Amino acid sequence: MIIVLKSSATDEDLKHLTEGLKERGYGVHISKGVEKTIVGAIGAPDSDKELIAQQIETYHFVEKVVPILKPYKMVNIDFRPERSIVKIKDGVEIGGTQIHVMAGPCCIENEEMLLDIAIAVKKAGATILRGGAFKPSTSPYSFQGLEYDGLQMLARVGKETGMAVITEAMAVNDVEVIAAYADIIQIGTRSMQNYPLLKEVGQAKKPVMLKRGMWATIEEWMQAAEYIASHGNLEIILCERGIRTFETYTRNTFDINAIPAAKELSHLPIIGDSAHGTGKWTLVRPVAKAAVAAGADGIMVEVHPHPSHAYKDGFQSLRSDDA
Ligand code: PEP
Ligand code: MN
Repeated sequence: MIIVLKSSATDEDLKHLTEGLKERGYGVHISKGVEKTIVGAIGAPDSDKELIAQQIETYHFVEKVVPILKPYKMVNIDFRPERSIVKIKDGVEIGGTQIHVMAGPCCIENEEMLLDIAIAVKKAGATILRGGAFKPSTSPYSFQGLEYDGLQMLARVGKETGMAVITEAMAVNDVEVIAAYADIIQIGTRSMQNYPLLKEVGQAKKPVMLKRGMWATIEEWMQAAEYIASHGNLEIILCERGIRTFETYTRNTFDINAIPAAKELSHLPIIGDSAHGTGKWTLVRPVAKAAVAAGADGIMVEVHPHPSHAYKDGFQSLRSDDA
């Protein structure tokens, strides 16, 4: 880290700081300018760095502390320059040369409909079937999903069509059963900072797709991914799904910047969800294309046979006969 001292800092202050840093295992480099003194501190153990930086910032003679390294390591491209490929099943690898399409209904409504949608989206080129069994809902009165029944339907339809399946886990206690039925565990936007859940999927032996929190900075998103990685699971796929902005015409603002930014910062593959990212079916296709043009490894879209009758998110769903 780099520590910039205030102009008023005395030699005594500098001595106090230097001794404290050395005691904590840092190598110290002092650079005295005409007005400011800058102290470079290197070499302390990773686990201590954030706390030490915060503590040093409390000294009255310190102007600011600038960390040099990013606060995430395992998902950082600097620590693993070759890009990760997440193998979902034979022939389905995310992050390789093929663009993957994840498609399906927002929520699983019944098995027959799910199968019809799966057949339609597979025919249109999708390799991964999506469908919510446990649904995060802003309103406690709206449909909460078919839960365990839905999960079993998804697994059966996946098997029948030969598609990989992805569904969301919302609760720590459901992770084990979801991991048994699904090929990818989805962490939804509302759960991006649910640290007990991130730790739990970090221990699962299944790939995880981590959606960006709708309020989260790219750095917070990378740190959420680091939670999963640091608990033992590096099979992580990032997903940009739109963030909250002042715009009201669209449900969210799909942050196209996040796609190349994530690729610059991390070796993990990334999916663009233009359904939740726009909230308008008319915008889903062009924004999905933009995501791929920006470097996404795949896209996620919602599909329903009759969007006007969908239990959820019909306004952003493509029609299955038009998928
Ligand atoms: C979903 O994929 O259906 C979903 C609820 O997504 P998000 O968490 O991005 O809102
Ligand atoms: Mn949805």
